[in-house]
Amino acid sequence: MLEKELDGLSTRGLRRFWRSVEAVEGSRLKIGGRWMISLASNSYLGLHLHPRVKEAAREAIDRFGAGAASARLIGGTFSLHEELEAALAQFKQTEAALLFPTGYMANLGAVTSLVGPGDLVAGDALNHASLIDACRLSKAAFRVYPHRDADRLDACLKLRRKRCRNALIATEGLFSMDGDIAPLAGIAEIARRHEAWLLVDDAHATGVLGKSGRGSLEHFGIPPGRILQMGTLSKALGSLGGFVAGPRAVIEWLKNKARSFVYTTALPPASAAAALAALRVIQGEPSCRARLKENARNWISGLKNLGLDLISEESPIVPIRVGDPQRVLKLASDLFEAGVFAPGIRPPTVPKGTARIRTSLTALHSGEDLDQALAAFRAVFAHAHRS
Ligand code: PMP
Repeated sequence: MLEKELDGLSTRGLRRFWRSVEAVEGSRLKIGGRWMISLASNSYLGLHLHPRVKEAAREAIDRFGAGAASARLIGGTFSLHEELEAALAQFKQTEAALLFPTGYMANLGAVTSLVGPGDLVAGDALNHASLIDACRLSKAAFRVYPHRDADRLDACLKLRRKRCRNALIATEGLFSMDGDIAPLAGIAEIARRHEAWLLVDDAHATGVLGKSGRGSLEHFGIPPGRILQMGTLSKALGSLGGFVAGPRAVIEWLKNKARSFVYTTALPPASAAAALAALRVIQGEPSCRARLKENARNWISGLKNLGLDLISEESPIVPIRVGDPQRVLKLASDLFEAGVFAPGIRPPTVPKGTARIRTSLTALHSGEDLDQALAAFRAVFAHAHRS
């Protein structure tokens, strides 16, 4: 039965698989014995390989051990966790912050603690699966508004807000699969007017957007105020873990109510220490972000010169519109043969009919990497066009 379903996924080009990485060096991954240029990393600043970040992880293992050995509220809160929470709150310009073992769990915990039966939650149509799952799990009335459409969001709240006790708006700041940015000034104003919580998932914007890399609120110059900022330690911060930053009372509430915080083991010391070191690099070495920006700019103009159909050109996430999942698989496989790892993204990760090649740039890419990758894209897409 399952075998048949799996065969069906294969026939439709929707079967999932992974590539096994044998070694990592800068922007290159060793896969199947060959060094490939990776355009698949979310470590936008390359900090997972930064010497101080790696050293901090090693030191934390020596001092605290390989695992936290307990839940945060039992015996698993180390001084490192508190130090990282204080640093994240300061970075995000909020009163407090709370760590979760992953970003997925941070979204689950935040949404389900703030809204429940009798409440309303409104989410962008292209929100990440963790936000969608959180909204569904909350048992609040869940309404989806068209992607980045603040007017439709406003209309939804106008219609429903009065009938609900609490309301929450959930949106990504920088969208993970589309690379575009939510119209946060308008959304924040709508949240204020309708007395709704606003949760901004800044998984991809943290360390990337804004003058100091604080994220999408800084990008727009919006004061954090009562806005809740979710983030992950697993992308620009080069580690693993999630967090929510916001007003002290909300963070204290999550500490008491978020089941994905309370009933799970604390973040391993090495992950916390690595993220803390990465945060310091972000604040102390703005040149990383400048390099990332320059790489993204060059890559976008290179792809545009090839005449490719880019879904967005606002960030280091640069997706190329293809449409059909089988076609995406073939393109990704031809690129792979040409030495470039650029994954095909298919439904249900993205809506039906919008399969794409998603490329992500990092500060680690050299000019030579990008020239080589561009040559591969030129050859593969030209061939696909002809055949
Ligand atoms: N939100 C978004 C927008 C993401 O892209 C991701 C990770 N893919 C998450 C949340 C979950 O973060 P984590 O990987 O830390 O669980």
